Amino acid sequence: MKNTELLATFLEEKGIAFEQDVTLKDHCTFRIGGSVELLAHPSDEGQIKDVMQKARELSVDTFVLGRGSNILFSDEGFRGLAVHLGKAFSQVWQENEVTLSCQSGIPLSTLCEYAQRQSLTGLEFAYGIPGTVGGAVYMNAGAYGGEMKDVLLSTRHLIRQNGNWEAGAFTGEAMGLSYRRSAYSDRDMVITGATIGLRRGDPNEIRAKMDDYMSRRRSKQPLELPNAGSTFKRPQGNYASALVDQCGLKGLRVGGAMVSEKHAGFVVNAGDATCADVLELIRQVQQTVEKQTGYRLEREIRLIG
Ligand code: FAD
Repeated sequence: MKNTELLATFLEEKGIAFEQDVTLKDHCTFRIGGSVELLAHPSDEGQIKDVMQKARELSVDTFVLGRGSNILFSDEGFRGLAVHLGKAFSQVWQENEVTLSCQSGIPLSTLCEYAQRQSLTGLEFAYGIPGTVGGAVYMNAGAYGGEMKDVLLSTRHLIRQNGNWEAGAFTGEAMGLSYRRSAYSDRDMVITGATIGLRRGDPNEIRAKMDDYMSRRRSKQPLELPNAGSTFKRPQGNYASALVDQCGLKGLRVGGAMVSEKHAGFVVNAGDATCADVLELIRQVQQTVEKQTGYRLEREIRLIG
């Protein structure tokens, strides 16, 4: 029996929800990618621990999946297990008058709505970022002058120590938050939750700000075509989209992948794009921008598989 089959048997015995041979296209906003052998949907921390522990024992590779809104999956897919933290792991509660805590699978926009209903301000910038809180912590997601760093008081996680997955937490500097990075970037840890510090505000003003940000997104971003958000990180002293536009690259295509005509900072899936198409398009854009402007654009989208 293959190790992933042994893992599937274990998940079944433990009552942990999972699917087999799942196309990753259906689990990312880019709608690109091959299949993953196992996709588990744990619903509490104990289940996440069990899954991670067993996968390690069986030498099955793993990655954590939120909403897949910042991921480009390879055409070959992923041999191993994806641990999906979504709906089944998305509780939110109020710690005190101005502090919220949540599990990491909750969509950011749902958390924003919750904060608005409690008359709490400070999180409006995140409304419309189509990820989970786990993904937003991992990436230190940000928009419209705000970022997760501004509101995060602490993060909770599971980390492997002395052979066992154990619960831990980071506060302050230990969260390692900087532009699109956190202490979790490129580390084998599972973010399980976050505590967020906000301020009392007027619910109507909070709502108006959220709606304004959402309508700006709708008018500027190519939301009508599958994409994974900004393709490149912002280079120091400039904007990736301005550089790509300046080089006349809007509309450039490789196979089904295209630099958006609406927003030069986005590569979109204009129809049956493959991962190889996207990577080749990114390479061409990077090469032209560097040649014409001297800026080396760094990919923001995470490649998995
Ligand atoms: P995923 O894409 O699922 O994962 C991203 C990375 O985080 C992966 O490496 C994954 O393994 C890891 N990860 C996810 N959850 C966990 C966890 N619980 N524990 C450990 N690791 C985890 N981003 C911005 O910053 N600002 C924007 O304004 C913005 N606008 C966007 C607009 C569009 C239309 C789209 C499609 C994307 C946009 N993004 C933006 C990108 C994306 O939404 C954010 O990066 C988001 O925070 C990713 O969350 P996710 O749940 O989708 O993470």
